[in-house]
Amino acid sequence: MTLYIVATPIGNLNDITLRAIEILKKVDIVAAEDTRHSGLLLQHLGIKAKLFALHDHNEQEKSQLLIEKLKSGVSIALISDAGTPLINDPGYHLVKACRENEINVVPIPGACAAIAALSVAGLPSDKFSYEGFLPAKSKARVDYLMTLVNETRTMIFYESTHRLLDTLHDMQTVFGADKQIVLAKELTKTWETIVSYPVTQLINWLNEDIARQKGEFVLIVEGHTKTDTDIDPNVIHTLKLLTKELPLKKAAAITAEIYGLKKNQLYQIGLSLE
Ligand code: SAM
Repeated sequence: MTLYIVATPIGNLNDITLRAIEILKKVDIVAAEDTRHSGLLLQHLGIKAKLFALHDHNEQEKSQLLIEKLKSGVSIALISDAGTPLINDPGYHLVKACRENEINVVPIPGACAAIAALSVAGLPSDKFSYEGFLPAKSKARVDYLMTLVNETRTMIFYESTHRLLDTLHDMQTVFGADKQIVLAKELTKTWETIVSYPVTQLINWLNEDIARQKGEFVLIVEGHTKTDTDIDPNVIHTLKLLTKELPLKKAAAITAEIYGLKKNQLYQIGLSLE
């Protein structure tokens, strides 16, 4: 009764380990996010497996069924559409339930887009914060990015084609034009591209050719370097309180006066909070 968490390729089908193949051949059931998609991978590997659908919408309900199967002595491998399961992919509820039921869970490590991108980014990799996908709506996205303004660790984000530019514009507003970002696109695939620019230049680079905006992306964002001009969270709090009662221009001016900061900088921050 073992659950194997098996990483699969993120593009290049050769990025599967010998051990992953061995486990996928050996288990009784392969639980997969999209059985059709994973069926093709297994077919490519020459593996005939009994597939079981486990995706975001049925995971909680189906986990119990899989737990019963595991308890009865069945072995199961969990895979996702790409990369490492549970990393922005289903599996958390199942693994948690296994731990609660003292069922053996074994990792079969392999590809993960975040780690692959970090390994080539050339930004500090001794400490990093995995942030996954940002909220879809701009207001929520900006609010969340504001909480990362003083994050000193390198940050890793996943992003999709249709939100890439909006996200970068929000990062420009919140982090400033000079924030260094490494964009890792289509890793391990034919159109793999890795570029490193300050955010404003990165936006220009993407706008130069619309094809550059298409694909799967990881954004590696440099951490904050502490300086004397750091915005104290109290400043943001004051600005937020004042903007409830006053026009932004006035609120920014008063906040600037209180904390001895530049009103234009606070005005820009206020705009991003709106
Ligand atoms: N579990 C996966 C992993 O281990 O990386 C992540 C799954 S998440 C649903 C999919 C996102 O991962 C994509 O939208 C993209 O941001 C990122 N991603 C996956 N494959 C990628 C690749 N080949 N190149 C760049 N980013 C990729």
